[in-house]
Parts: sequence; C-alpha cells; structure tokens
Amino acid sequence: MARKIGSRYTAHQVLGRGSAGTVWLGEGPDGPVAIKLLREDLASDQELVSRFVRERTALLGLEHPNVVSVRDLVVDGSNLALVMDLVRGTDLRTRLERERRLAPEAAVAIVADVADGLAAAHAAGVVHRDVKPENVLLDMEGPLGPGGSHRALLTDFGVAKLIDTPKRTRATKIIGTPDYLAPEIVEGLPPRAAVDIYALATVLYELLAGFTPFGGGHPGAVLRRHVTETVAPLPGIPDELWQLLVQCLAKAPASRLRASELAARLRELLPMLAGMPPLDVDEPDVDPVPEPDDEAGAQPLAETAGTRVRRRGAVPLVPGARPDSNRDTHTSMRVPTPDELAGGARGTARVPRVAGVPRPGSARHRAAARRRRLTLGAAGVLLAAMVGAGMWWASSDDEVPSSPPADSAPPTP
Ligand code: ADP
Ligand code: MG
Repeated sequence: MARKIGSRYTAHQVLGRGSAGTVWLGEGPDGPVAIKLLREDLASDQELVSRFVRERTALLGLEHPNVVSVRDLVVDGSNLALVMDLVRGTDLRTRLERERRLAPEAAVAIVADVADGLAAAHAAGVVHRDVKPENVLLDMEGPLGPGGSHRALLTDFGVAKLIDTPKRTRATKIIGTPDYLAPEIVEGLPPRAAVDIYALATVLYELLAGFTPFGGGHPGAVLRRHVTETVAPLPGIPDELWQLLVQCLAKAPASRLRASELAARLRELLPMLAGMPPLDVDEPDVDPVPEPDDEAGAQPLAETAGTRVRRRGAVPLVPGARPDSNRDTHTSMRVPTPDELAGGARGTARVPRVAGVPRPGSARHRAAARRRRLTLGAAGVLLAAMVGAGMWWASSDDEVPSSPPADSAPPTP
C-alpha cells in the first residue's frame, strides 16, 4: 500500500525493520529511494525533531561511494523520515550469518571500503558512533571487487547521535550489543573519530574469526574486557593484517590509525591475501549466564555440549530485563557502575582455539578425557601384568636359576 511522505515521496513497500524505524522502498522526484520512517516515539519527541533538523547540514553534505547518502529529511506532521540512496543488496550481518567467516581478502576489501567512507565522514566532522555489520550495506547490483566482494556502504550516519539523548540513556534502559564499543566510551569520554576505527577493527576481526574479540556473556563483562583485556591472536592470520588489527584495537584512541590510513594499509594487503581461505578458528567459551526467573526475560538458548549457554549478541544489562531482539545500538546504553565493570567475567582474555581442539568441559573434551583414562587404565593393567610376569620370572628363576626358557626373553622395563 503506497503511503505519501511529505509532498515529494511515496513509500511503497517495507524493505526492512530496524531499531530506529522501518525502511521502505520509495519513489522520489529523482527515482527510487529508501525511506526510513523513524519510530513513533522518536518522531514525537520535540527535542529530537529539532536536533534532527539541526543535523540536516552534516547529514546531507556527505557524498561518497562508500556512504549511503541521506538525500532528504522530511518532517511531516507526526512523521519523521530520512530519505536515503537505495542500496539493492543485503547488509553485512546477513552475509556473515550465512557464511560464518569471510575469506581474508573479501573481509579486508569490505572493511577498506567502510574505512574510506569513514574517512570522508571524519573529514566532514561527522563521527558515525555505530559501526557494526548491521550498518554496512552491500551493493549487489554493482561490479564485484577483490575476492568477489560487493561494494560496501556505511549507513545510519548521525542517527546514533540523534537518538542518544540523556532521556534515553536511563539506568533502566536495555542495551543491545556492546561488542563494538571503544574503551573510552565505556570510561565515559566523548566519542571522537577513533571510536569508529575501534568499532571497524572489531568488525574486521569478526569477519575473519566469526566472533568479536571482546563479546560474549554478560554485557558488563564485555564492557570490562574492552577496557582491560588485550585482544587474543587469531591462529593463521597473516602478521601484517594482525598488526593492523592490534593497532586499531588499541585502548588509547590516539594510537589507532586514521580512517584514510587504515583504508590504504588494508588495500596494500589485498594482493597478498588473494585466494586465502577463511581462517580455521573456533569461538572461545561463552560465559554462562544464569537464567532469569521471569519468562519474559528468556532468551534463545544454544545447546553447547550439554550445557545451556546464552547466545552472544543482544543481552539485557539489567538482570531479568527483556533482551533486545533487534540488536539495538549502544546509543541507548548507560555507562556501567564500577561494580558492574568489575564483576561477571573471568579475568582472562577469551583465547580463540584452533579449530578441532575441544573446549574444556565440552562433550568432546570429556570424551577425550575418558579415552585418556581408558588408555591409562589399560596401561596400568598391562604394567600390573608385566610386574606379575616379572615376579613369575623372578620366582621361576628362584626355582630354576640356571635354565630360563631359551626362546623367550624376560620383558624389558
Ligand atoms: P536501524 O538502523 O534502525 O536498526 P537499518 O538501517 O538497519 O535500521 O534498516 C533495517 C533494514 O532496512 C536493513 O537491514 C536493510 O535491509 C534495509 N535498509 C536500510 N537502509 C537501506 C537502504 N538505504 N537501501 C536498502 N535497504 C535498506
Ligand atoms: Mg542500522
């Protein structure tokens, strides 16, 4: 059903639903567009609307092949809409879920694209603040890049900032994934361009490994890891690529590369990565989280080696709160208390395992331990038999000291 948005746009069909609203395939004076209709509670917030309008210039000014451009902002009665370039394709989260891990060449090509988009934004004074696979769209109609990758475009510029009002960051507010949050944000410092680099490096790690470097378990534990833990190496990753990752995941914002530099360095690595298969690594353990009593707080559970552990990703910060089903952003997050930062996790970094090595406590690990016990048991029986045989030899020696059987030697220890 067509729906008029302002005087110039018509929304035709829903393309997708996100945390900030619904995205429609629409038509404008210059052809097809994507229209994000902001959620009603956001659109009816007077302060947010005026901020939205004030932000117009920065958002509208961003034009880059790796940025989903905002064409128009429409305030129409109770509707608040962002008119964007239409990208025909999928988002990076969908691709990652389908493939689990990307080949290094494809991952690096995508991240280099996003870094180029970020460089343009940072040059214009815009910090994205919500870089994550959900906000990277892949243009599937355009030509393929290195490693068969589609052009990547960063979307949702400025939306994070608009929604991030003190009113929306109450202590009771439920958060989504804190996996991409730079440590300085956790510590309450204002987000500068380097937070985008940290988040993008996290995305790169995730594309290569299939999991984020500091994610998993209770959100408080994730936040603490961002601040205190160093990133665990990925088995089999080329050293040059690893060095880039480590530098961009540095705790100190000033130590991270700038976006344009990161893009250039990543592109330099592309020829070396050509044809390399995805890394062969397994996700480290997830901290098991006790189940809330309340049914409404129940989350999808994954069965891992007989123990129920919580899926990674969207988790409630407040115990027992309803989890975020749509992977909302950190924009509605509060800074945790020191207690929360200190608690809830093991003190060591989550070290990725080489694929095939069973994780401690898993069924495979227990089976291996059982096999080891059986082997040890069998060895014990054999040893006892050998000792027995030795004693027999000794006693037969006593009996017949001068004539042991000529065709058999006593067992050697
Ligand atoms: P939010 O950021 O509010 O959670 P998204 O921006 O992720 O919402 O949009 C939800 C979905 O809408 C995306 O997964 C994608 O499928 C679709 N979408 C968003 N922007 C565009 C666009 N510019 N072109 C085409 N599809 C889009
Ligand atoms: Mg989004």
